[in-house]
Amino acid sequence: MNKSEFMLMDQSDPLAHKRQEFCLNEGQIYLDGNSLGVLPESAKQHAQEVVGVQWGRDLITSWNKHNWIDLPVEIGEKIAPLVGAEVGQVICCDSISVNIFKLLACALTLRPERIKILSQTDNFPTDLYVAQGLQQILGDKRCEIVLADDGQITEMLDDSVAVVLLTQVNFRTGKIHNMDKLTQLAHEAGALIIWDLAHSAGAIPVELDNCNVDFAVGCGYKFLNGGPGAPAFVYAARKHHQYISQPLQGWMGHVKPFDFAPDYITAPGMFSFLVGTPPVVSMSILSAALDVFADADTRALRDKSIKLSSVFISLVEQNSKLTDFVLVSPRQAEERGSQVSFRHPQAYAICQSLIEVGVIADFRAPDILRFGITPLYTSYMDIWEAVERLTEVMDLQSYKQSKYQVKARVT
Ligand SMILES: *Cc1c(COP(=O)(O)O)cnc(C)c1O
Repeated sequence: MNKSEFMLMDQSDPLAHKRQEFCLNEGQIYLDGNSLGVLPESAKQHAQEVVGVQWGRDLITSWNKHNWIDLPVEIGEKIAPLVGAEVGQVICCDSISVNIFKLLACALTLRPERIKILSQTDNFPTDLYVAQGLQQILGDKRCEIVLADDGQITEMLDDSVAVVLLTQVNFRTGKIHNMDKLTQLAHEAGALIIWDLAHSAGAIPVELDNCNVDFAVGCGYKFLNGGPGAPAFVYAARKHHQYISQPLQGWMGHVKPFDFAPDYITAPGMFSFLVGTPPVVSMSILSAALDVFADADTRALRDKSIKLSSVFISLVEQNSKLTDFVLVSPRQAEERGSQVSFRHPQAYAICQSLIEVGVIADFRAPDILRFGITPLYTSYMDIWEAVERLTEVMDLQSYKQSKYQVKARVT
């Protein structure tokens, strides 16, 4: 493959125009949209409006005047089509961690005769930490955590499991679980299932309703480009709505918050997942950011993501100066999310050195160099150029400088 082929791929890319909707830095190749999505123009403009006009001028009247109070639902409905959910089943609130706490507690309540939470050893750690915290409150008699290695999940799924907690796309390798099959197996064992969609929503087509999923959570600041610390979302299948009960009972989840009654009465359906006052500035930005998806079909995004990832893998593997990079993502495109990860003993230093030459990727301990592929704004020439710069970093061995060995607090 040569450079002109990459130029041609950009010319015939049906999504090429979407790139203009993002505030990209000149000369920089951003391959980290799976950690923090790029700022969309729509979000940048709306942030000024929210801060300057809605907060600055209209102050408290904005709760009604600008419908701040409706943001959790409004955003939920913008996310719903991206995850295959019919209306009324997605709401935006809190972080994934907090939402997993609510959902695990809810699921255990729905399966009172069972105590096991089944998850995966290499799940994203926060999911496991939250389960551990819940287990500490509930005690051994009411909650037990069992962790399966990848490939062992179905073996450990029996009629003692109350709820299965899995991340659809593995954050290190990008490997995709079969949501349809695992959800069905969980149900056959009488268990409920919670899917973490942190690396799925906005990245790959998701079919929550069609897969009969019970509950899901997802992230606002990764592929949905909602900005640093943007709130997360929760999905609950409609059939569970009348039974939802979660322990973080806050006034926003009360049926009548502005009655200020002393006793909690849960609001119906998805509203019962709300806890405290929504972070209006963050939510408004996320809401505007989601508008870039309005005319982007998830299948088209997936097609481009697969093409970008496949040519990236080929370029690296065909390059005689990059033979030390070992692909850890699945080679089969259908089994891989929207990222490409390689193993290299010097992954951390190489990542730092790449940042210096304008290629932003990230490092995941112990030795993984992770490249996020975001078809909305990544071009084929970005991929070509990223591999060129990586080759140069390896060729000049610039990553060996001691300054690149020092670990920062956030990697
Ligand atoms: C990024 C990520 C999270 C983040 O959770 P927050 O509580 O929203 O910070 C959770 N789970 C997975 C799988 C992630 O990749």
